[in-house]
Amino acid sequence: MVRVRFAPSPTGFLHIGGSRTALFNWIFAQSQKGKFILRIEDTDALRSKKEYVAEILRSLEWLGFHWDEIYYQSQRYDIYREYARKLLESGAAYLADKLPQQAEGQAVILRIQPQKVEVNDLIRGRIEFDTSVIKDQVLIKSDGTPTYNFACVVDDALMGITHVIRGDDHISNTPKQVIMYKALGLAMPAFAHLPLILATEGGRLSKRKGATAISEFRSMGYLSKALVNFLLLLGWSPGENREIIEPQEAIRLFDIRHINKTAAVLDLDKLNWINNQYLKAEDPDKLVDELVPLLAQKGLIDKDGFDRGYVRSVVTLLQPRLTTLNDFPDRADFFFLKDPVMDPKAQEKFLQNDLSREFRAFAQRLESLPRFDIPSIEETFRQLVAELKIEAKTLIHPVRVALTGKTVGPGLFEVIYYLGKERSIERLMRQVKTGG
Ligand code: GLU
Repeated sequence: MVRVRFAPSPTGFLHIGGSRTALFNWIFAQSQKGKFILRIEDTDALRSKKEYVAEILRSLEWLGFHWDEIYYQSQRYDIYREYARKLLESGAAYLADKLPQQAEGQAVILRIQPQKVEVNDLIRGRIEFDTSVIKDQVLIKSDGTPTYNFACVVDDALMGITHVIRGDDHISNTPKQVIMYKALGLAMPAFAHLPLILATEGGRLSKRKGATAISEFRSMGYLSKALVNFLLLLGWSPGENREIIEPQEAIRLFDIRHINKTAAVLDLDKLNWINNQYLKAEDPDKLVDELVPLLAQKGLIDKDGFDRGYVRSVVTLLQPRLTTLNDFPDRADFFFLKDPVMDPKAQEKFLQNDLSREFRAFAQRLESLPRFDIPSIEETFRQLVAELKIEAKTLIHPVRVALTGKTVGPGLFEVIYYLGKERSIERLMRQVKTGG
């Protein structure tokens, strides 16, 4: 059975690179009906933090990468020491010289013999390593903790890992690990090194270049499905120029041999586009659940007493235009506030001229509409501009600003419908100069 693992070091948050590695492990496991194992590599006591572990677990759960087993390396030191002892006994490893004032124990070091190491990488093909540059390798440090390479090999072997799928920044570790497998007489997994992810402007990803933690993308209002879709395209494609693919279908189509060999470029415009596609297609009720806390936080609704049906209507109206969930409160505020927040520029541009006569006339027409629905609102508006012999747009923009405070938004007649007769009339009449 296929068994793969994602092995983050909890010395920081889960970032784009790590989550892509997690995704490819997870999706491969799903596609092979295998197991996805999570191994927290917390051997660096100084840099590993509980908060990071918690954040990594939360982000993986949010992305939907559920693990079948979880291990913490910090709970397995006895195991690594036992394997080191075996290598000492066989003479493959030796103890480092103890320094005069050293209080700690002695490091255990693996002797490296010159040898040919070849790996048949599932993505990159055959890789031949020059081991003459590899020095003897520390297995256990003088403080008793294992090195990354040694703990990794012991664990991959004991956990029955069949495929090691990881970023190609680990390629230089691979020959060292191969040598350790041979020294221990343990069976080797297959290796698959994922291509590098480059920043949009070239070069490696870094925080400075905008690579952010998954939790940050979450709080910026990206949907987890969209992010997973985006991560998937950083190394794989379903073919036929398709860009939108949901996990279940990706699992069906996924083939590890079809992972790209060339570096992927992080294109955040693409992420925005993908997020919009998912927002458009999302079940409005699910969006309402996500948006209610944001609306409440902005003071636009009262969390404990709001009209869910109304929020849902507004969501349906705006969802095709959203890039992120976080766009919603600002775009929709006028539906919830008593008075719309006026954009001063919009006001200056469209409410400068006195349109009292036109606004009053439109308000009266709305008032006397026998049926207040979108087609009737539009019809009465069209009639009015025809009678006044003005172009529709000379009234559409000012009315929009009067009602919403903004120059852009959903269709005006829908806005009027969802604002309701009373509030629309009130906002129109607020622009009418009395006595004029
Ligand atoms: N802890 C290592 C990392 O976070 C794991 C590398 C591996 O997958 O072997 O990069």
